[in-house]
Amino acid sequence: MNSNPTPQDWSDLLANLEVQGLRRSFRILESGQGTYINVAGRMLMNLASNDYLGLAAHPCIVQAVKEAVDRWGWGAGASRLVSGTMRIHADLESRLATFKGAEAALVCPTGYQANLAAIRGLAGRGDVIFLDKLNHASIIDASLARGPARLEAPVVRVFPHRDYRRLERLLDKAKGTRRRIIVTDSIFSMDGDFADLSMLVELKSRYDALLIVDEAHATGVWGEHGRGLAEAMDVTEKIDVAVGTLSKALGGLGGFIAASREIIDWLVNTARPFIYTTALPPAACAAAMAALDLVEREPGRRLGLIRMAAWFREQVAGGLGLDIAGSCSQIIPIIVGPVDRTVELSRALEEAGFLVPAIRPPTVPKGKSRLRISLCADHQQTDLARLLDVLGTVCRKR
Ligand SMILES: *Cc1c(COP(=O)(O)O)cnc(C)c1O
Repeated sequence: MNSNPTPQDWSDLLANLEVQGLRRSFRILESGQGTYINVAGRMLMNLASNDYLGLAAHPCIVQAVKEAVDRWGWGAGASRLVSGTMRIHADLESRLATFKGAEAALVCPTGYQANLAAIRGLAGRGDVIFLDKLNHASIIDASLARGPARLEAPVVRVFPHRDYRRLERLLDKAKGTRRRIIVTDSIFSMDGDFADLSMLVELKSRYDALLIVDEAHATGVWGEHGRGLAEAMDVTEKIDVAVGTLSKALGGLGGFIAASREIIDWLVNTARPFIYTTALPPAACAAAMAALDLVEREPGRRLGLIRMAAWFREQVAGGLGLDIAGSCSQIIPIIVGPVDRTVELSRALEEAGFLVPAIRPPTVPKGKSRLRISLCADHQQTDLARLLDVLGTVCRKR
């Protein structure tokens, strides 16, 4: 069987997705981001966004963007190494390095590309990459990708989610390889649970490995200054490479890598996903810096969000007795299981005015379809209490 479809197969393939309840399509918003959004003329409470601090439409950021467009224009015009690096890119990079407690930082057009650049730039032939089974798709894609010469591909070993004993056995078997690279999400995007960064730091020193931590969901939210889960777990300096995004809690677009000066310089010179793409528009850099200002100036946003998330998890798990997997964060899944039941629940919630997405394979494993609630600092507790009422009703009913 040839698994590579010919063009006339596309409609069959789509029909097949449809039958399995896995065909997806866009939901078009008629409004900007916020805790309430206009979807096809109806206002829905938005529990489906990564805009955790409510910055995507924040007036300070909008103002910073307008000023930056006036000063720098819109486009960056070229890739970073050609003529796309403006003063504002350099300013954002030094700001991010300071924020992350690193020597240097490198901005990429998205967080997806930041993972591609970091992993493909650092791992090559003779190296072994160790991945948590539930790592984000961008980490998987980065690790499995082949460079121009197929021989450059590193070996990839996947360990079960948070099974660090298994990781240790894999590391032990890989002694003597050129370089060992452990990559993990800090907060897992579909389960909302934490990697044990202290354990990973210990393993990486014991086995002389490099540790890359993707802080996409933690940046701006977790840690005393909002620097990420590594800050909250007090292991910031022990992490070799931190990846983050400007697109979630920071409310805009872009990704970054923070590491030693040498690692960053190496990536600038070799990481194809960084080199062969146009620089981020200067106004996006301005937006990110305005967001970092807000993170610094208004710690109440993240502290309130963390407190509200703890209360909400307790209500869903303890109060309603629903399965929230191992969530410890503002990402709160409700594990349902079958695809059709999950889609049905998501529709019922939408009927009742709440946008709560159904997350299905291939994003999550088969049989683990779920509703995924993400909270925002601007959500009101009274609104969440209404959601809990509706959840209680629809999740109990068959
Ligand atoms: C969203 C996400 C990314 C990608 O970031 P973008 O800026 O949206 O491209 C990378 N890693 C993780 C863990 C994510 O959740």
